[in-house]
Amino acid sequence: MAKSSYAVTIAGGGSTFTPGIALMLLKEHDRFPVDKVIFYDNDAERQEIVAKACEIYFKENAPELDFSYTTDPEEAFTGIDFVLAHIRVGKYAMRELDEKIPLKYGCVGQETCGAGGIAYGMRSIGGVIEILDYMEKYSPDAWMLNYSNPAAIVAEACRVLRPNSKIINICDMPIDLMDKMAVMCGLNDHRDLQYSYYGLNHYGWFTKIFDKQGNDLMPQIKEHMAKNGYLDGISHEEGQEQHIDESWVHTFGKAKDVYAIDPETIPNTYLKYYTFPDYVVETSNPDYTRANEVMDGREKKVFGACRKVIETGTAEGAGFEADAHATYIVDLACALAENTGERFLLIVPNDGAVSNFDETAMVEVPCIVGSNGYEKICQGKVPQWQKGMLEQQVSVEKLVVQAWVEGSYQKLWQALSLSATIPSAKVAKQILDDLIEANKDYWPELK
Ligand code: NAD
Repeated sequence: MAKSSYAVTIAGGGSTFTPGIALMLLKEHDRFPVDKVIFYDNDAERQEIVAKACEIYFKENAPELDFSYTTDPEEAFTGIDFVLAHIRVGKYAMRELDEKIPLKYGCVGQETCGAGGIAYGMRSIGGVIEILDYMEKYSPDAWMLNYSNPAAIVAEACRVLRPNSKIINICDMPIDLMDKMAVMCGLNDHRDLQYSYYGLNHYGWFTKIFDKQGNDLMPQIKEHMAKNGYLDGISHEEGQEQHIDESWVHTFGKAKDVYAIDPETIPNTYLKYYTFPDYVVETSNPDYTRANEVMDGREKKVFGACRKVIETGTAEGAGFEADAHATYIVDLACALAENTGERFLLIVPNDGAVSNFDETAMVEVPCIVGSNGYEKICQGKVPQWQKGMLEQQVSVEKLVVQAWVEGSYQKLWQALSLSATIPSAKVAKQILDDLIEANKDYWPELK
């Protein structure tokens, strides 16, 4: 596929992440030459604010870039090489309900985990499949790199509904955690580490960490995890992680307790929702959740900056910055386009990569990526505790997709009642009935 330049569509053009990703593409031009960028969104008004501001920035800083934005699928998806997808079906207003409805019943209310993640999954499946279909219709050779959440449910839906499509689902959380482990060991970032990992998205464990010389870093990392969780990995260097929201600081610290359950492995931070749901609920404010924090923080900041650029007609001093944490997306696109054979943690069909686990599960495991796609690196057998957890959670995710495909109330109730974040089928039903009411504009009708 190697070309002298690439055309990229950013789906979810109105996302708070779009300016950072678009600027990152410009910054990485030497290694991944993108000469055409199209923003696509189904909310013209929201997208226009982000797109107009980016247009001004590009005119000032990259006048040669062919840039446009649209809500028309044919325009958005014709003649492109990659789709970078980060959509949020229902936007923050629905995220707020995903978080607050379960909390009303004393259960974890979270974007991608538990009942909130299930509700969001039921909205996302249709949106992501629609974009995939547009891409295949107008640019059948293109690749879609999807990081729209909840990635575990979206990936399972793609496996079931579009098994042969050129879509790769990827998540930045393990990369962020590896950046933290690198800091604990006095290294720069995740690129300095070699790793083994298994699990589902937002539900997995690191089993090996080496440096590039092959030295085992696990003893050092375990010491830090036992004392402070991931807090020791927060970089205090200029330009790095200056503004971590309070809720994330708690999550990085709580990883200490999750780690204590199995000190042989290093857990993904999201496991706290399944292993300490009572703690999560006790420390949540049902009137002010993470969605409120993001709406008052990142959303206001990004849209405020965009409006200012449009008003003043210049992006100078607007504080637009390339999203350094998103370079993994360029790394992945490069691997596909230029056949680099690099290692990535991807969400892919198991097919034996975790040998004592459901072959049809969408697992998150290391893969080698090149121009013909990916090859999984086998992770062998998982221990009994992880196996039990994985069997339970994969069943939740599979039931959600089945509920969406069949329009089945019964299966969605089963999914909720099986989640480790919900104590009984009675509570699951109460939450489900509220979620159905809240999501009537988004979910298929359930019978
Ligand atoms: P946001 O609400 O700011 O933006 C999402 C955009 O998607 C909105 O402009 C909305 O109009 C648009 N949209 C919704 N449905 C659409 C559809 N069917 N077609 C086209 N556009 C549609 O959200 P955000 O906070 O920027 O997050 C976007 C997504 O990226 C979320 O799913 C979030 O969880 C995900 N995310 C993933 C990672 C990761 O690495 N996995 C990291 C950060 C964010």
